Amino acid sequence: MKSKNPVCRKCVSCGSIVSKDALIRIVRNKEGKTSIDFSLCGEGRGAYICRSRECIDKALGKKLLERSFKAGIDPSDRERIIKETENFG
Ligand SMILES: [Zn+2]
Repeated sequence: MKSKNPVCRKCVSCGSIVSKDALIRIVRNKEGKTSIDFSLCGEGRGAYICRSRECIDKALGKKLLERSFKAGIDPSDRERIIKETENFG
C-alpha cells in the first residue's frame, strides 16, 4: 500500500518537521552556487526553511544554511536569496 502522506522535511531554523509545500528549498550545486530551488527537487545539496520571515531571517542571519551545507555562501547568492524571499512570511 502506497502512503499518500506529503513528504516532510526539517526546517534548518526552527527544527520543525514540515510538509514540503510549506517549505522553501535552498540548494547548493556542484559549482558552489547557492539559490532557491523553486522546483523542490533540483540537483545538489538541499536545505529546507519554513516559508516564514522568522525562519528565513534566522537561517540567513545565523549562518544556519552554511552549517547545513558545511560550506560558505557567496555574498551575492545570499543577497539574491534575501531578495527572492522578501515577500514570504
Ligand atoms: Zn522553521
